[in-house]
Order: sequence, then C-alpha cells, then structure tokens
Amino acid sequence: MARRWIWIGLTGFLVALLSVGLTSAQAAKPLQSQLTVSHLSPVQTTAGASLQFLKSRSLDESDLTSDNLQLAQAAPPRQVTALADPSNFGDRYATDINGRVLRNDFIAVLHETVGSAQSAINLFRTHHPRDQDQVSYHALIGRDGTIYYIVPPEKRAFGAGNSVFDGPSGPETVRTNSAFPPSVNNFAYHISLETPGDGMNNRRSHSGYTPNQYASLAWLLAQTTIPDSRITTHQAVDRSGNRMDPRSFNGQGFFALLRRYPTRSGLSG
Ligand SMILES: [Zn+2]
Repeated sequence: MARRWIWIGLTGFLVALLSVGLTSAQAAKPLQSQLTVSHLSPVQTTAGASLQFLKSRSLDESDLTSDNLQLAQAAPPRQVTALADPSNFGDRYATDINGRVLRNDFIAVLHETVGSAQSAINLFRTHHPRDQDQVSYHALIGRDGTIYYIVPPEKRAFGAGNSVFDGPSGPETVRTNSAFPPSVNNFAYHISLETPGDGMNNRRSHSGYTPNQYASLAWLLAQTTIPDSRITTHQAVDRSGNRMDPRSFNGQGFFALLRRYPTRSGLSG
C-alpha cells in the first residue's frame, strides 16, 4: 500500500512540474494542486522508530564513482512521508504582489539541516501561527539515504527567506507578501541533507554527506525535469548574508552521479 502511494506521489510530482509550466500563463489564482494532502499516505505514527539511522561512513571523492552507487540507482531509496503542519507551507502563486503573472520554471535548492533529521521533522510538524516562525523543506534526506517527504511538491515550502536565483536568464525572485523580502520559494523545490554529527555548529565546514545521501539526492532529482543549471544551493540564492548551506557539499561528484541517469540527458544545460 505504502509503495503504491509513493508511486502516486512521484507521478504527482512530475504532473505538478509539468502542469505548473502549462497552466501558469492562464492562471490568475493560486495554482490548483494536482494532489491534495489526502492523496498522500498518512504521516507514519512509527516515525520515531523509522528514524533510527544506519551508521554511515564519511564520503570521499572515489565513493561517488563506485559500483555500489551505480547499484543504488537501480532501486528507489527508502521513502517516508512525514508531512509538515499546514501552517508551515502554502500555495504556489500564479501572480506576484503586483499582479504580474509568474512564469518561473522550477529550481531545486539544496540545504542542510544543521540539527538531526528528527529535530527538523519535529519542527516542521509543529504548528506555527506567526509568519516569521513558519519554515519547511519539501524533502529531507537522512544519513542512511531515506527520503522524507515533508511538503507536497505542488505546494510552496518556506525554505529560503530573502533570496534571488541568478540563473542563465538573469535574476529571478518573487514577492508574494508585502511584509517580507522577495524570495525563490514560489518556484523552488527545497531539499535538505541531514548534517553529520561534527557539523552541528556554525563552522564553515564539516565531514560532509554519506554516499547514500548523494545517491538518494540524485535519484530524487532524476525524477524531475529540473535542469542542472537550475539546481542551486541556499548559500547561492541567499541575500541575507548568513546562509552557507549545504556546507562541504561535493557538487562535482554529485552532478557526475546525476548525469548517469538516462532521464537526465538533455537536462545538463
Ligand atoms: Zn538552508
């Protein structure tokens, strides 16, 4: 049963990505969801038990080109739905605060949790009535490679505050709330990597992410049509000057892994 919902969810993800592109021109109201929350599997009541992470070894460059990661591509990673409280996400808007029709293609923004995956999930599942407390990612990848689905892809997660995507066609950002600076949230798919134990601090680097995390991240992005040129980091889009995540991310190794997926051919521009 769970597997069936996962596939429905992934299909919905692709449908949502496609439909946003197709409907943005004529829509004048928040984009219609392709999936409602009720179509997703219920939040697992055994989340505590399922968050027992396997011990993961640290990554070096050679791990990203090893045979075990090729095998990891063949089978979908473990996936768990851990839906955020509805206060922590919203609809994607078809127009900005001035009524301008929005035509941005999706970007993927990579983050790290700094705390544990469990503490991040707990935070997202907490009701936050005040706008400034609301926060979420769409997906989170634990140290063992498990993907936690937190916000449905057709919804707007609150993963980046003051932010601009400097893409191939110039700066892109959207203002949907007069009380906040413009951000990339309206067209972003936010994915966070669980930080290693030696990174639960504000230092500039840590021991990095596990091979399973890179494999799951590549698998997840291989389900999308987001081109390489629109995969970015919180640090790159941040305009507040205080975000540097995901620290110690091996971008070169990651893109080499992602490009092994046949579905990614033609998306590397
Ligand atoms: Zn971040």
